[in-house]
Amino acid sequence: MKVVIIGAGVAGLAIGWRLLQADCSVIILDRAQPGRGATSAAAGMLAVTAEMEDAPEAERRLALASDVLWPSFAAELEQASGQSIGYRRDGALMLAADAAELEALRPRGTVLDSAGVAALAPMLANPAGALWTADEGHVDNRALGAALAVAVLKAGGKILPGEAAVRMDGHTVLTPYGGYTADAVLLAAGAWSGLLAKVPVIPVKGEIIALAPPPGAVLPKPMIWGNGVYLVPRGDRLLVGATVQDAGFDTNITDAARRHLRSRAESLIPSLQDWTVAEQWAGLRPKSPDGLPLLGPGPLPDLFVASGQYRNGILFAPAIARMMADMIMGQGAVIPEFDPRRFA
Ligand SMILES: Cc1cc2nc3c(=O)[nH]c(=O)nc-3n(C[C@H](O)[C@H](O)[C@H](O)COP(=O)(O)OP(=O)(O)OC[C@H]3O[C@@H](n4cnc5c(N)ncnc54)[C@H](O)[C@@H]3O)c2cc1C
Repeated sequence: MKVVIIGAGVAGLAIGWRLLQADCSVIILDRAQPGRGATSAAAGMLAVTAEMEDAPEAERRLALASDVLWPSFAAELEQASGQSIGYRRDGALMLAADAAELEALRPRGTVLDSAGVAALAPMLANPAGALWTADEGHVDNRALGAALAVAVLKAGGKILPGEAAVRMDGHTVLTPYGGYTADAVLLAAGAWSGLLAKVPVIPVKGEIIALAPPPGAVLPKPMIWGNGVYLVPRGDRLLVGATVQDAGFDTNITDAARRHLRSRAESLIPSLQDWTVAEQWAGLRPKSPDGLPLLGPGPLPDLFVASGQYRNGILFAPAIARMMADMIMGQGAVIPEFDPRRFA
């Protein structure tokens, strides 16, 4: 079976890799470079606890199923690509602002008092306590995109960077350089998916800063959520994210976001005022009208869609790869809550 995939983000690459493993022929087009869309802008959290608190049951199930797949997915990808993707399960602290908030967190799992939090992250200022999820994971999402691209190429797939799909004509995807005809087409163009087909996906801008420590300063080991931001250790930097803004396709970075993220982070860890902003970036999350992913048949024959993962496309990647590869090959059912046709 021949498949053309539009978009070499985590979704298009991971699904393409699974299809190649099932002996499909795969061409992945990207208007820019593989893994450089939202996939590189993300914080890489596999935030099953923090992100799924108010999620509908179907999304929570997808998140949990994917989280279970992550260890073997990471090991298999590192083996196939020969590259590390920085996958770790060092836990997450969700800080309570006061005793009342701590009580509210108690039904959700293991709750630590102030001393318990200080033992895990001594740099935090006066924590009231926190929800502690010891096995919450994260991954270096930039390394993930790069490793997936290598795995796709090693499995015999083709990635065509700098080649934007401009139109679909039946089973043919047209680019400025020609046409690619396939048995099935997968639209996995992230926040840009709605520009190519009648798929209701909008971009939601997010900005992140990466702080570099002064000599001798120590990074927290777990991820930390509090005061409207999250802190994620990534190599020798601490990521602070993220803004959530409806700004169309704008990916400019702003002073306002930098100040906002920095001051919130410093309210949690005052010593961060001595850290420098090593990098700042913005990316576009792909969001559907109900906030749930679009995973299944699209509005044209043999067109499939994998988009709308919004804030959790890195977390969802292993499950989406399996599910969409099966579906494209004619196996496996569409989950009604994620059916792209629900908005028709
Ligand atoms: C600031 C921020 C923080 C985030 N943090 C997390 C997190 O911690 N954990 C998590 O799970 N998720 C997180 N996310 C969400 C996650 O990044 C996305 O859900 C996920 O990356 C979407 O992957 P994708 O492959 O669908 O899209 P993308 O990675 O955006 O890839 C889409 C690709 O399609 C290409 N493309 C677009 N149009 C065309 C065209 N016409 N022709 C060819 N190619 C095209 C683009 O160039 C791009 O490479 C975050 C997102 C942002 C912005």
